[in-house]
Amino acid sequence: MYSRTQNDNGTFNTRCLFCFMTIASCVELPEELDRLEKRHICPERALAELQEQAKAKAQPGRPSAGAAG
Ligand SMILES: [Zn+2]
Repeated sequence: MYSRTQNDNGTFNTRCLFCFMTIASCVELPEELDRLEKRHICPERALAELQEQAKAKAQPGRPSAGAAG
């Protein structure tokens, strides 16, 4: 999830909505934004995904494979 904005001179900025870090600014091509966003390794997003996994495991009524006994 990224927030893109356009500058007065037509260039773009993009910001990560997980950690609110500006990933790139004054980028001329949208294709370049795609590339830069993919390269962003986000610690906040990794944490959020870990928490999702933990939540899924902790849900009652779902048998966990191989963990019985
Ligand atoms: Zn991020």
